[in-house]
Amino acid sequence: MRAHVITHGCQMNEYDTHTIRSELVAGGHHIVEHADDAELILVNTCAVRGKPVEKVVSLLGEFRKEKQAGRDLTVGMMGCLAQLEEGQEIARKFAVDILLGPGAITDIHDALNALEAGRESYESLRFKSDLDTLIPPAPDALTGFLTIMRGCDHHCTYCIVPTTRGPEVSRPVESILAEAEAMRDAGVQEIMLLGQNVNSYGLKDEGIPSFAELLRLVAQVGIPRVKFTTSHPMNFTSDIIDVIAEEPNVCNFIHLPVQSGSDRVLRRMAREYRRDRYLDIIREIRAKVQDVVISTDIIVGFPGETEEDFTQTLSLFEEVGYEHAFMFAYSARPGTPSAERFEDMPREVKIERLQRLIDVQKRYAFEANQRWIGREVRVLIRERQENGEFAMGHSDQNHTVLVPKDQVTRLGLHHVRVEHVTPHTMYGSVVGARTTAVPLVMAS
Ligand code: SAM
Ligand code: SF4
Repeated sequence: MRAHVITHGCQMNEYDTHTIRSELVAGGHHIVEHADDAELILVNTCAVRGKPVEKVVSLLGEFRKEKQAGRDLTVGMMGCLAQLEEGQEIARKFAVDILLGPGAITDIHDALNALEAGRESYESLRFKSDLDTLIPPAPDALTGFLTIMRGCDHHCTYCIVPTTRGPEVSRPVESILAEAEAMRDAGVQEIMLLGQNVNSYGLKDEGIPSFAELLRLVAQVGIPRVKFTTSHPMNFTSDIIDVIAEEPNVCNFIHLPVQSGSDRVLRRMAREYRRDRYLDIIREIRAKVQDVVISTDIIVGFPGETEEDFTQTLSLFEEVGYEHAFMFAYSARPGTPSAERFEDMPREVKIERLQRLIDVQKRYAFEANQRWIGREVRVLIRERQENGEFAMGHSDQNHTVLVPKDQVTRLGLHHVRVEHVTPHTMYGSVVGARTTAVPLVMAS
């Protein structure tokens, strides 16, 4: 079959999309770039906030219309939404043919066989253990994701992930290292280790390394850059910071979601740390890791968040000086404790606070980026704009960096001198490059 996968949501979904594509190819199917050319379309869904769910509804509505108009199309829903009653209702409404939960993607062959044999639809929502040892082929790219654990054992009151992805399971270290070695041999230059809380890797299993030990082992595989996400402050121990400081190819970029600067809100969110502990970790990171860049996730407008609570989030930004942040307005997700127990606040209040936070974050990001002007950063240049003047990549610290594209004869790692910055982008020149000098344009 000609198959196409549409991916919404996080990097774990991107990894799962890569896995299911590989499974389809191994089963003799062809991956096509455009949904219009496909006989099978799988939608890999996200259920963390309301917006991505709305997107799925509108996509599935379009596919149903096309099927009703006579297009011969098999439609599947996979990912977090598929695991929820909410998603299953949507799937029934839009006559989705295949429903696979995040732990059941290897059931795709059974699903297609069942439909071929005349079944009307196929559903699998189990958490299969074959995923732990399955090693998908290395991606044909300079960067690659590698899931080291699945699921989540925390119970943050706003979050649907423990329901959709099940309890934490750490993959065997042998599978992780074999996958990393295959990526290195295929020329991957940057690997991103993935998990909902990578720091709790191995904590439940005897005789398996801790995350700090695993990180060192992966670093020693010899891929030029190793990054990881997401870290949970609760398990972010000093030995992890030591590995980042000591292993030259572990990038000095740390994503450490705080969610709120107010202890009262953290308690209501059931986050297991408090502001002081979080700030202690930040101080230790900044003291040990040179030129480190720290980013975070924040939810504004959590039920009951007062103006005073929000002010504490703003002051936390000042204390940490985040270089980057993903900022979200709280979204009440059916089935989560906070949606069941607490009253949502008016949307206008959430949006107004979100905008204030974005403005503050922009200021810190701009100040932080300005400190790099005149310095060299190592950039993994991944693409040259087709119609624009720039080539684009990311620094070791995860900054987005643009250079004139005529300075880049090959994609890959380059040293770049930073010349101009905006809050979100750095502009520079490849060190040692000869150029016909396209003038650098500073975006506003
Ligand atoms: N496991 C990670 C952690 O604990 O930080 C994050 C995983 S979650 C899929 C990604 C981010 O989505 C969270 O850090 C949180 O900021 C945000 N998020 C989760 N549920 C949300 C909700 N109901 N409303 C708004 N944002 C939410
Ligand atoms: Fe969701 Fe909390 Fe688990 Fe992160 S740690 S996935 S926010 S429940």
